[in-house]
Amino acid sequence: MISTPHPRTLLLTPGPLTTSEATRAALGRDWGSRDDDFIALTARLRTRLTALAGGAGTHETVLLAGSGTFAVEAALGTLVPRDGRALVLVNGAYGRRMVEMLRRMGRDHVALEWDEDRPVDPDAVERALLADPAITDVAVVQCETTSGLLNPVERIADVVRRQGRRLLVDAMSAFGALPIDASRLGLCAVMASSNKGLEGVPGISFVVAERAHLARCAGNAHSLSLDLHAQAEGFRGNGQWRFTPPVQVAAALDAALDQLEAEGGIAARGARYAALHRMLVDGMEALGFRCFLPPDLQAPIIVTFRDPGPPFDFAALYARLQAEGIVLYPGKLTREPSFRIGCIGAIDEADMRRVLDAIARAARSA
Ligand SMILES: *Cc1c(COP(=O)(O)O)cnc(C)c1O
Repeated sequence: MISTPHPRTLLLTPGPLTTSEATRAALGRDWGSRDDDFIALTARLRTRLTALAGGAGTHETVLLAGSGTFAVEAALGTLVPRDGRALVLVNGAYGRRMVEMLRRMGRDHVALEWDEDRPVDPDAVERALLADPAITDVAVVQCETTSGLLNPVERIADVVRRQGRRLLVDAMSAFGALPIDASRLGLCAVMASSNKGLEGVPGISFVVAERAHLARCAGNAHSLSLDLHAQAEGFRGNGQWRFTPPVQVAAALDAALDQLEAEGGIAARGARYAALHRMLVDGMEALGFRCFLPPDLQAPIIVTFRDPGPPFDFAALYARLQAEGIVLYPGKLTREPSFRIGCIGAIDEADMRRVLDAIARAARSA
């Protein structure tokens, strides 16, 4: 039997994502958590991530071990005062997850909800803030990965600033791919992780927090391990993580950030994803599939396609593509069957061609 080398696995999901060889190569070394070079690497990561969030001078990055959800929970628990009230803007599963976190930590909160194909409406946010002066903090998801929708963060930030409240942004799936300007927008916090648009391996999440507010949050966190104030003090003090750092993951993230810089930064990466997104949508529409969102609401991150129904069978398509090393993602909409295909990660147009060809072959033989 002739064995052909297995082609590279392509993860067209919201994470973990396809990583480059250089990023994976950076995993291959052991580091002591107190080594000078690891402390320097940690400091470098913090500086670079703060700059990517547009927060140099006003913000600082607090790194955590864990998936992205850990950073969101740490941010809400540390930065929303115990006697505060949070307003969560919900148009998908990640917004709902923030409501659930606040409920579990017993923080006072209210939610404003929209359908999964509707963006957050800044005017409605302003009305809610005017009507309820007790609201101290607002939380929103930048790109709602549930559908792939991009919320108007700038306009929401304008409203929240005008009304004198704080804004926390779950920027997870768009960080590194779409610009965000924490200083200019006066954001209280930007939460993201190593394994989405930054194209690192999974295992680190982080909060880029406004320094002045973070300094006021000593003792506020509901959790020891998710206390951003305490971890920030640690980084500023001895430069170390309070608990075992994911050292290889940190080294891989540093390597991934080198590659982001070499690619030309967020603008260039966003342009690559936008081209892949265009190619994906055109290719799928040519095969007869339809996008869930209208083009003006869609971010170039992940696309939700409507399940056309029988004879189409997503489970069969998923299994066929998986056998070829291509991973798609089930839908997450509450209201209708769907599936998702991502256009982020260390992939290029040849990879997207391979994906579209595999889907076309599967569709023909169905
Ligand atoms: C991926 C993602 C998260 C975090 O998910 P984890 O599975 O914990 O990494 C949070 N918010 C959004 C918008 C995401 O896309």
